[in-house]
Amino acid sequence: MNLTSYLQPYGIELTGVLTLDACSVHKPYLLHRAGFDLQKANTIFVQIFAVPYLTPDAQHASRNLSAYAVSEDYHLFFEQLYDELLPRLRTEYSDHLFAGFADHSPIDEISAAVDAGLGVRGLNHLLLTNRYSSYIFLGEIITDLPLTPTPSVLPPEARNCHACGACLAACPMQSEGGECRSSLTQKKGNLTAEECQALQRFDSVWGCDICQQVCPYTAHAKARGTIYTSIPFFHRNTIPHLTIDLLDEINDDAFSRRAYAWRGREVIRRNLSLKQSQRKED
Ligand code: SF4
Ligand code: SF4
Repeated sequence: MNLTSYLQPYGIELTGVLTLDACSVHKPYLLHRAGFDLQKANTIFVQIFAVPYLTPDAQHASRNLSAYAVSEDYHLFFEQLYDELLPRLRTEYSDHLFAGFADHSPIDEISAAVDAGLGVRGLNHLLLTNRYSSYIFLGEIITDLPLTPTPSVLPPEARNCHACGACLAACPMQSEGGECRSSLTQKKGNLTAEECQALQRFDSVWGCDICQQVCPYTAHAKARGTIYTSIPFFHRNTIPHLTIDLLDEINDDAFSRRAYAWRGREVIRRNLSLKQSQRKED
């Protein structure tokens, strides 16, 4: 048994199961808090799954946000999913515990996803799946309901990508130095003159997708026609190109639903202002 049939109606197809003792547990307190006894890790199961998020809107020619930030904040998708699914599972299997996680997870999600056969670990530190490339978020439902672990499909030597190096060759950090551009776009407070210049040369005002764009897994998933998500949440209220005017128009409630909201308006406004001042100089 597994929980795939519960996830499929939400557009989630890529899933696998492993026991908790096969996972690397980083935050055991999250499991204790959910009522699990970690002494019995071999009777606790992890149904791990990939949530694809890429939409055609993220291919907008003037997109200036990372593809994941074009849609509303994915944490809201998981919140809604677990609010619906977990009470249902707890009712149907009333003797068992169920807890849902994503991002803030008790386990090393990428290792678990590789072990459950969802994909391979990329040199870019992302999970690479055949169907969606790296344009996925990982989530997991942890339960003491006996699930059937997915047979390990990959030999140890095939768990990493083939290290073609395209991601490293395209990375601005490798060619120009400085900090990872994704981290830089999220940095609070005053930036140094060098950091400002690095941001001005960079197309995105939030996040960086370069290592995903150039990865051959992305080209293959596009060619296969499987890369886009079918999940309505990610197709609604997309903003591929943000401007200062648009940022000012977004009310606080709508802003709180964007993936960049956790850093506050001022960080992304600063990045937009830097781009605007650069355009004026040009
Ligand atoms: S670009 Fe090449 S080296 Fe980088 S993650 Fe993709 S397959 Fe691996
Ligand atoms: S996110 Fe961008 S800048 Fe950061 S390591 Fe990847 S390619 Fe380089």
